[in-house]
Amino acid sequence: SASAYDVIIIGAGAAGLMCAATAGYRGRRVLVVDHANKPGKKILMSGGGRCNFTNLNSTPANFLSNNPHYCISALKRYTPQDFLELVDRHGVEYEEKAPGQLFCRDSARDILNVLLTECEWAGAEIRLKTAVQAVREADRGYQVTTSDGALTCESLVIATGGLSIPTMGATGLGYELAKQFGLTVLPTRAGLVPFTLQPELKQQLAPLSGISCPVDAHCHNQHFREPLLVTHRGLSGPAMLQVSSYWQPGETIHINLLPGQRVHDDLLTLRNEKPQATVAQYLGLHLPKRFAQAFNDLNGWHGPLQACRNQDIEHIARTLDNWSVKPAGTEGYRTAEVTLGGVDTRQLSSRTMACLNRPDLYFIGEVVDVTGHLGGHNFQWAWASGVAAGNEA
Ligand code: FAD
Repeated sequence: SASAYDVIIIGAGAAGLMCAATAGYRGRRVLVVDHANKPGKKILMSGGGRCNFTNLNSTPANFLSNNPHYCISALKRYTPQDFLELVDRHGVEYEEKAPGQLFCRDSARDILNVLLTECEWAGAEIRLKTAVQAVREADRGYQVTTSDGALTCESLVIATGGLSIPTMGATGLGYELAKQFGLTVLPTRAGLVPFTLQPELKQQLAPLSGISCPVDAHCHNQHFREPLLVTHRGLSGPAMLQVSSYWQPGETIHINLLPGQRVHDDLLTLRNEKPQATVAQYLGLHLPKRFAQAFNDLNGWHGPLQACRNQDIEHIARTLDNWSVKPAGTEGYRTAEVTLGGVDTRQLSSRTMACLNRPDLYFIGEVVDVTGHLGGHNFQWAWASGVAAGNEA
């Protein structure tokens, strides 16, 4: 019948569209349904509108999961180079902004167009503004009840993404369906998200809003040497977003404000050679001036270095090497780039992305408990898991 498909994919995002094209090319009759009025909204807003679509240096170490080995197989079988070849075939111009991080030169729209064109060539149908109301087992496969009527399929792929940016259409449907079919859903929380601060520190740092400097930030022994950005709401920038994925409420994060600098030795030398120099002047050599002065004042470092005892110098050096900040929290799903946790991968096949005890039900992309670092890794997981399922569904 007109409503019978081989494969139905719920979610016309990065993973769903990739899966649809892959399954379509195998000759499967594919339908993608999405409640949004447009496909791939998150692709369009990603990477500041230029979509950091992959990372050439992506390895399994760039992913967080309760089951760290799960992602290895799919990532190995569909590599950043594979996606790059697809992008090249479509003539999309790109640039490497930071080592390994590939962005569109013009617009994220180019990546979405690649996916939509591939879906069209593969004969995969996309139905938008279609809300999924219920899913139940049918004779051979599943029946999907939508606002647009009942549909049936042999294979069902859940690609509904995470909970971040609810205004873009994020819902918990994927998690609910996982539970309905007996899968475990691990607790979810916002990742790649700015930190908020306790009122006192927030106020002290407020004048620094807009200032960025390269730091080495760490939490749970995960180090990120990237820029820190002070905003009027708290701490952001790549270093903080990366650390946020490892941070748990109540914990302290550690920031080396002068990575690569031997602060203790430097200060001792400076005290010998220029006894009248101040800590603020030393900081000004390595940090943006406004940040240097404000950080100095925050710590109450006044007077010339010659007035500092050895233990004072030690304390100052420790504060700069290891500025310990206890965030009040994060900005949450409202601004998070990703959702940590999700469908437990221990019940899924790392080769096909299907449930181990239900080989016609697949979970791909961000809805599963695989979360990438900042820098194009999350899309690489969406592509790789989408292809893995698309080759099988
Ligand atoms: P999504 O792309 O989120 O797609 C899920 C789809 O499911 C959506 O179309 C949604 O409408 C649909 N859906 C949800 N619920 C339902 C329902 N109940 N019924 C029907 N349809 C439903 N990653 C990178 O690698 N590089 C970047 O540069 C980057 N930048 C980002 C910037 C921002 C601001 C954000 C928020 C994220 C960014 N990410 C980036 C992360 C990346 O966008 C996601 O990891 C990726 O989109 C996940 O793909 P997905 O297909 O699993 O989910």
